[in-house]
Amino acid sequence: MPSSSPTEASLKRIQRYVKKYWEKTGTSPHPQAEVTEAVVNGLASHMDELGRPLCPCNFYADKQAELAASRRWVCACDEMKQFKYCHCLLFVTPEGLPITEYLPEDHEGRQIYGVVKDPTPDKGREAK
Ligand code: SF4
Repeated sequence: MPSSSPTEASLKRIQRYVKKYWEKTGTSPHPQAEVTEAVVNGLASHMDELGRPLCPCNFYADKQAELAASRRWVCACDEMKQFKYCHCLLFVTPEGLPITEYLPEDHEGRQIYGVVKDPTPDKGREAK
């Protein structure tokens, strides 16, 4: 996670986006508010630093190079759009679990969490 505090403007922007994305995808906030807060702060810090909400839960050797090469980890990332899986736990089930049912069986999300069913299968997969 980026360590600096985000600006108020970026924080507000990310908070608005996250709220809308919960609605759009039928996912929920994590029951522990501090989990959501940490990810929102990380996304907002990346907005300040990079101008894009790069996923804060990965390690990048070079963030600029990552963004130049691909948008795959710009929130909502490809995994979220395709599989409705958020490894940051920002977009989860009401119990706070990431949805894993659409992931390939050998994906680490399946290995960690097993099969977690999507409670709202009619919503939220932009790129099936
Ligand atoms: S949707 Fe993807 S990019 Fe956004 S917080 Fe979750 S894992 Fe990170």
